[in-house]
Amino acid sequence: MKLNLNIEPLENWLPTKSQPLVIAGPCSAETEEQLIATAHLLAKTGKISALRAGIWKPRTRPGEFEGIGSIGLEWLNRAKKETGLPITVEVANAKHVEEALAAGVDILWIGARSTANPFTVQEIADALRGVDIPVMIKNPVNPDLSLWIGALERINQAGITKLAAISRGFSSYEKSPFRNEPMWELAIQLKTLCPELPIICDPSHICGNRELIPYISQKALDLEMNGLMIESHIDPSVAWTDAKQQLTPSALSDLIDNLTVRHHEP
Ligand code: PEP
Ligand code: MN
Repeated sequence: MKLNLNIEPLENWLPTKSQPLVIAGPCSAETEEQLIATAHLLAKTGKISALRAGIWKPRTRPGEFEGIGSIGLEWLNRAKKETGLPITVEVANAKHVEEALAAGVDILWIGARSTANPFTVQEIADALRGVDIPVMIKNPVNPDLSLWIGALERINQAGITKLAAISRGFSSYEKSPFRNEPMWELAIQLKTLCPELPIICDPSHICGNRELIPYISQKALDLEMNGLMIESHIDPSVAWTDAKQQLTPSALSDLIDNLTVRHHEP
């Protein structure tokens, strides 16, 4: 398999506040107060390089909280103004892209369910043509490296060179302690095919519970991944989505302090 991507270095678009690079924020923006309070606590640690929050949530089954919607962009923007943190949001169609761009979102990400659908990825790619914004692409829910690569190629061919992959684990039918199997070999293969592509690990969606997050975070760093995206909520026990896997900003700060970034030989 060949993979020719035109990639800009990560430092060009996401300067690291402290080692390791960490993107953090709630799974979902729920209320303005929740988002702003979480953002301030995260910013105060000095260890977070960007603020994440989902506002359009792709739920597996209907009838659950599907995201606060466009109003969340105003809250994210307020968080950015007050903390200075760049903001990132999941987009799943052209309208999301247009709204996020108009609202001053700094980085977009494509979710695992979207990456699995080439029509969706192409729609997003078309909406991004001629736009200069960083895009992070989560692996598809199923362990199909070609789908992940195909999404990276579609977005890259639209002219996006500030590109990163996010490894968030893969659905499996096997009984496992993880919500999504890490299947590290896929990210390793991707890195082998394209060494200049930054890969960020998302331990929150791999683990599905708080307890395993330190282990998976350290493992990702030992595998020389370029950073971590970790869900953090001011009060995880009452989170509207992914309550079991979110960390308070202070627990996240402790976790980061206990991680070791080993400097590997080039
Ligand atoms: C999320 O980041 O909250 C999310 C929905 O993730 P994924 O697309 O990895 O399931
Ligand atoms: Mn989530």
